[in-house]
Amino acid sequence: MSIAAAQKHSGRQDIAALASNENPDGCSPDVAAALANLNPSRYSDPACTVLRAVLSHKLGVPAERIVAGNGSEEMIAAVCRAVLRPGALAATVCPGFGLHEIEALANGAKVEKVGMRTDLNFDIPAIVAMLERAPVIFFLSSPSNPVGPALDRESLERILAAVTPQTLLVLDEAYFEFTDEDMPDGLAALSATDLSWVVLRTFSKAYGLAGLRVGYAVMSDARLARAVTAAKTPFNVNAAAQVAAVAALEDEAWMRSSVAALKRERARVADAVAAMGLSVARSQTNFLFIDVGWDSRAALNHFLSKAIIVKPWKEEGYETFIRVTIGTPSENDRFLDALRALAKREG
Ligand SMILES: *Cc1c(COP(=O)(O)O)cnc(C)c1O
Repeated sequence: MSIAAAQKHSGRQDIAALASNENPDGCSPDVAAALANLNPSRYSDPACTVLRAVLSHKLGVPAERIVAGNGSEEMIAAVCRAVLRPGALAATVCPGFGLHEIEALANGAKVEKVGMRTDLNFDIPAIVAMLERAPVIFFLSSPSNPVGPALDRESLERILAAVTPQTLLVLDEAYFEFTDEDMPDGLAALSATDLSWVVLRTFSKAYGLAGLRVGYAVMSDARLARAVTAAKTPFNVNAAAQVAAVAALEDEAWMRSSVAALKRERARVADAVAAMGLSVARSQTNFLFIDVGWDSRAALNHFLSKAIIVKPWKEEGYETFIRVTIGTPSENDRFLDALRALAKREG
């Protein structure tokens, strides 16, 4: 739901938009400075040369294996278009990120899903069993959207050991910057294998550039990167997004300090939710996945009446879950007050 629609629905202006995992702190002030120098009359660089060079240096990966996208969402679509043929088996996790299924279906694949465990963690034996069936693509978000946990080192290693040469493993690390120190870096782990893989990252979450639409895919080999490049539109990343992403990368200190504060808020909100007796998944992201004990659409209406937007979950087995973004401390307090009121209501 948009902020404008929520304003209309609630009759209030002060909407706490906690449904899309945006950064409530905004972005580095260097982004605005970089945008001020932009010439909007010139086409953007179709190769995103400067951005890919900065990423190459930061990640230690040759630029020929990096493709920038109009958000990492575009890279999900381009990877599917590059490798899936009608009838191919694609696999992912449930609950999961919608586009991992939608873009595979759009390319004619059959999609099978592995459930998360009831304790809201990854079901490693089930993921391994699915990988042994050699799907053409396996999409996995770690940290998981919508649930929140990240694969630990041992789990990631068990998964990597089960990937066959027939499978392209797509590890979607949209929330990489929010993970704990002891969590593995998926890009480093995959780089040490000879598998076919894609790692997706984005400027939309930790870097606070969701509205500009820029993310990227890092791939195991240049041939795959060329196939993904051929599957995107030429000027896919606009000029504003390119300079903004470079400015954001050159001010990592801003991102790190924002992420540190959001992680402290995440712990505070999660503790308060658990203290209400509600089940909340361990999160390595900037959101929490909570069983509110009410139909999630009814819960959404309750939060909207208090000018708060949350994301109601609808997948089977999760119809009483909502996903809520960690906002500013005062937005989080408003959310907790509204959740307390909902938890007290008779069921
Ligand atoms: C937010 C998100 C994305 C998409 O991000 P954009 O770069 O804004 O397109 C991709 N994958 C997951 C799991 C996400 O949560």
